[in-house]
Amino acid sequence: MKQFILGVVVLLVPLTSCSGQQRTMAPGSPVHKLNMATSQAADSTRSPRVLDSTQTTSNLKAMVMKTEEEWKKILTPQEYRVLRQKATDRPFTGEYVNTTADGIYSCRACGAELYKSDTKFDSHCGWPSFYAAIDSGVIVETPDNSFGMKRTELTCARCGSHLGHIFDDGPEPTGMRHCINSTSLRFSPAEKKD
Ligand SMILES: [Zn+2]
Repeated sequence: MKQFILGVVVLLVPLTSCSGQQRTMAPGSPVHKLNMATSQAADSTRSPRVLDSTQTTSNLKAMVMKTEEEWKKILTPQEYRVLRQKATDRPFTGEYVNTTADGIYSCRACGAELYKSDTKFDSHCGWPSFYAAIDSGVIVETPDNSFGMKRTELTCARCGSHLGHIFDDGPEPTGMRHCINSTSLRFSPAEKKD
């Protein structure tokens, strides 16, 4: 935890820069992610244009920012490639593709809780798939036109790490499919009830 706290930064971003620009910013850019996260924090507190000391405290808890060198130290090479360099697990190889146990899936980089097991479904696509995040604020969607495809990337709202992509061919009740790399997740089984 100490590393996380040390790595946290708070950016003072005018709120006017947050609205309506997220689709036009470079996908995956740090500025984009910070704007998204700052916007979420600001929306909930109806703050003035610049974050005050109260918000600074809440953002310190909410956001995890590290240099790439710091991430390299705490992630395995495979985790670093996927979480920080947007690599993709080979299909049907990830450790959670077929996991059906009850529990919570968290971001492997920062530990933020991202998905509940009861929203996981068998998509037969080769990656763990969920129809909804644990909360809409825990993930960030960014247009991704890499590899000649029009996709929407999902990143962790807390630390900006790459998770996977979202598609609109999922099951009810949302119709969405969050296609997530196992390497981006850490599963914590629910405690067994006696
Ligand atoms: Zn994270």
